[in-house]
Amino acid sequence: MAATANPDKAGEIQEILGAAGGISLMARPADVPEVEETGATLVENARLKAVALAKATGMPALADDTGLEVDALGGAPGAYAARYAGEGATYADNVAKLLSELAALPDRGGARRARFRTVAWVQFPDGRELWREGTVDGVIADAPRGDGGFGYDAVFVPDEGDGRTFAQLRPEEKHAISHRGRALRALAAAMRAKSQVEPLGRSDAEEENRG
Ligand code: IMP
Repeated sequence: MAATANPDKAGEIQEILGAAGGISLMARPADVPEVEETGATLVENARLKAVALAKATGMPALADDTGLEVDALGGAPGAYAARYAGEGATYADNVAKLLSELAALPDRGGARRARFRTVAWVQFPDGRELWREGTVDGVIADAPRGDGGFGYDAVFVPDEGDGRTFAQLRPEEKHAISHRGRALRALAAAMRAKSQVEPLGRSDAEEENRG
């Protein structure tokens, strides 16, 4: 079961896990309230969301928490990417705030360097847990380009590309290199490996999770 209430993220999670071995997920039941993301880090928030859903439903739950780190802004918006322009901000509000913050900075080399980071966490109702992290490096474009994707995609130009923003890539092109694609494929592989050799244990040392 997927913890996200964001249909854009839910769609991507289904596409990525479907392609990674036909894994399919149920949506979060409408009567299970959304959890407040009170953690300061992606790991804390992913865990909060997955644990709450596993507890409420008695079923294994998957949560994704994603942040955008811009070097020249000291890592902001970071884990607060959804609320960067304030509570209830739209994707467009957040992108506008990001571009205006960057425009106000002196134009030094590397000022627009950024990365997306996703923590994908699976929680079992009996307390077993497993998580993996995925990242993608790139730069923030001067202006939005493209109609695909969501969130900050129209202003993120991945290093491993040809200059197009994430919003100009086909979904499968984005998933192949994206933070979310990497985190979820690593998580699916870890779950498969662990289930073959041992019952799933508590999350191992952090280094093992970061990819
Ligand atoms: P969340 O806290 O994980 O729900 O996501 C935080 C915010 O990051 C979202 O509201 C989006 O604005 C942004 N975001 C998450 N994933 C992506 C992505 O794949 N591309 C662009 N923006 C994203």
